[in-house]
Amino acid sequence: MGANKTKLILLGAPGAGKGTLAKMIQAELGFVHLSTGDMLREAVKEGTELGKKAAGYMNEGKLVPDDIVIGILGERLLAEDCEKGFVLDGFPRTRKQAVALEDILRGERMSLDLVLNLETPEEVLIQRLSGRTQCESCGAIYHEENIPSRDPGVCDKCGGKLYQREDDRKEAIEVRLRAYREETAELIDFYSEDGLLKSVDSGKDVETAFKQIAAGLKDG
Ligand code: ADP
Ligand code: ZN
Repeated sequence: MGANKTKLILLGAPGAGKGTLAKMIQAELGFVHLSTGDMLREAVKEGTELGKKAAGYMNEGKLVPDDIVIGILGERLLAEDCEKGFVLDGFPRTRKQAVALEDILRGERMSLDLVLNLETPEEVLIQRLSGRTQCESCGAIYHEENIPSRDPGVCDKCGGKLYQREDDRKEAIEVRLRAYREETAELIDFYSEDGLLKSVDSGKDVETAFKQIAAGLKDG
């Protein structure tokens, strides 16, 4: 099985590094990167019906209702490029989404190969989310201390403007971490029962985590 045929989920709390690592997995290993957060932010930016429904939840740090997210991801999974394998970032986040994903994949004669659980201490999560910025043009992720851009406020990759996400405010961070504990953390058991789960230490730097991921893909 070639690595880029693999169907992979990145599981982990907000701030665990799912987005950053998924982008590296796409760039260096050729996976299609599927981020429900990016898809929803795109819908909000374009002002679609779906975006209007999702925006309020997102700004407060709450989960968007399952049917909306399952709809958007389900449609994306039908595109031909996904047959080659993909890395899911930010989905599933509830048991209902995990069950829906199995149904969608079964319908497409596909199945999951691997679920990587990005383990990160809570104080690290909070530090990362608090200082995070993102490029409004290309989506690249920075951090004022951990991954500063060369020019403050300006993207190294494309010159775009960096902004702080509405849901990276302190109050929203707390809501997101609670949603993770109450709804998403149980997926660790869900996937370990399937024998698909592997742990990755995501509490240090991205390179360390990426090395573990690359190794996990090789013997997984
Ligand atoms: P993070 O993992 O850092 O919270 P994301 O970009 O993955 O960031 O998600 C941002 C927001 O988008 C979430 O707080 C939530 O409101 C919404 N969202 C993304 N994916 C899902 C999902 N699978 N289910 C419900 N809401 C989601
Ligand atoms: Zn950029």
